Amino acid sequence: MGDPLSAKSVLLVGAGGLGGPVSLLLAAGGVGRIVLLDEDVVETSNLNRQPLFGEPDLERRKAVAAAERLRKLHPGVRIEARDERFAPDLADELVRGADLVVDASDNFATRFLANDAAVTAGRPLVHGAVLRYTAQFLTVMPGKTGCLRCLFEAPPAEGSVPTCAQAGVLGALAGFAGALMGAEALRLLGGDRGAYAGRLVTFDARTGKSRLVTLRIRPGCPICSGAAGATREAP
Ligand SMILES: [Zn+2]
Repeated sequence: MGDPLSAKSVLLVGAGGLGGPVSLLLAAGGVGRIVLLDEDVVETSNLNRQPLFGEPDLERRKAVAAAERLRKLHPGVRIEARDERFAPDLADELVRGADLVVDASDNFATRFLANDAAVTAGRPLVHGAVLRYTAQFLTVMPGKTGCLRCLFEAPPAEGSVPTCAQAGVLGALAGFAGALMGAEALRLLGGDRGAYAGRLVTFDARTGKSRLVTLRIRPGCPICSGAAGATREAP
C-alpha cells in the first residue's frame, strides 16, 4: 500500500509510559491521524516514565493532556483524545477506523480486547508491555502470524500477576520499549515487515538478555480462525 504516512491512521491504546513515546514518534514521523485512548488521570508516580506529562499536568485526564501536548509539538497531525474505557463495542468501532493498532495498555483485559478486535478486523497490532525490569514485544499480522490468544487462551486470573502500579516499572525501560514500539508501527505503516511479526521478544534490562519465541497461528485459536486479515494486506 503506497499511501504516505500522512494518510495513515493509528489507534493508540494507552497514553502512559509506553503510549507517550509511541505517540511522540508517530507524530514526529508524520502519521496523519492518531486516536489516543486512555481513561486515567496523571499521577505523581507516572512522571518518572511518561514524557508527555509534567507537574502542571497532575490530576488532568491523560488523553486530554497528551493530545494537547502532541498538538503543540506537531500541529499538522490530527490528534483525537478519547478519555474513556476501551470497552468491546468501542474497541470494534475504533479499530475499524484505524489502519493499525498499538496496544500500549497496562492490563491484561485491555490487551486481549485489543488483540481480539485487531485480529477480527484485520488490522496489524503492535503489542508491548513492561513490568519491573522486563519488556515484551509482539506484532500480530492477522491471519498470518499468531496472536496473544495463540499464546495464552485467556488473560491470567485477576490478581495472579502484579500490575505496573503494584510492581513498578523501570522508567528508562518504558521509554526504550515505547520507542521500539513506535519504530515498529512506523515500519509497518511504511509497508515493511514488522521486526516482531510472529515473534514474541522479551528483554531483561538487568542482564541485557533477550529471548525470542516464534509465534505461529495455533490451530483452534478462536480469534485467528475468524481473522479478516488472511485476505487483507498490511497497511
Ligand atoms: Zn490467535
